[in-house]
Amino acid sequence: MKTPKINIAIDGYSSCGKSTLAKELAQELDYVFIDSGAMYRAVTLFALQNGIANGELDENKLISRLAEIEIRFEFNTSSGASDVFLNGDNVESEVRKMQVSDYVSPVAAVKEVRLKLVELQQKMGINKGVVMDGRDIGTVVFPNAELKIFMTANNEIRAKRRFEELQSKGEKPSLERVKANLEKRDFIDTNRKADPLRQASDARVLNNSNLSREEQLSLVLKWIEEAKSTLA
Ligand code: C5P
Repeated sequence: MKTPKINIAIDGYSSCGKSTLAKELAQELDYVFIDSGAMYRAVTLFALQNGIANGELDENKLISRLAEIEIRFEFNTSSGASDVFLNGDNVESEVRKMQVSDYVSPVAAVKEVRLKLVELQQKMGINKGVVMDGRDIGTVVFPNAELKIFMTANNEIRAKRRFEELQSKGEKPSLERVKANLEKRDFIDTNRKADPLRQASDARVLNNSNLSREEQLSLVLKWIEEAKSTLA
């Protein structure tokens, strides 16, 4: 008998390894992985390209141009995950740059931006079999997800991971700048009015500060089995 597909929501602070885990789970289960942060990053890139985030974010201008923004994902066989496209262009590597990270949380705090992206994300999960990571997936996007995970990790460890990731991609910000960016984003994400980062009351907490990737994966695969066993 075919096992039923579920939706898995992964939320948590910046650079806790949410996307890494989500991607591994999707490969293991043959599910679709969706990095919702890439969508907020793509809107931010649009704002940067169009002079809407020039020193300060011009919220009204961004809202007035939202209808011009088309975001989609396309599977990339060499990376084994989907690349994000903004108005037809593959912007997967561009959206990871520090300049985008510096503006993304103010952009993601705009209610109209969230309404547009949440609607798209909910459509992506309609047929189940989706692993989505972000900040509001278990609370807003998929409040009925069969498994919700809230990830945390020690600040120093998170900053070091992100720093090494940026270095491997050829960017050279200082460790202090990376750490300051993570702390600032966490602050804005947790304190904004629209869909703030919160642990859903029925989420399972995963602190991976001292877990290897293998240990983390096998723990979560066990949680998935438990979640499936409670289905009819
Ligand atoms: O996941 P990532 O760190 O790439 O997300 C970038 C930013 O996008 C976050 O700091 C947050 O401001 C925003 N975001 C959000 N809601 C999501 C995913 C990301 O507000 N579901």
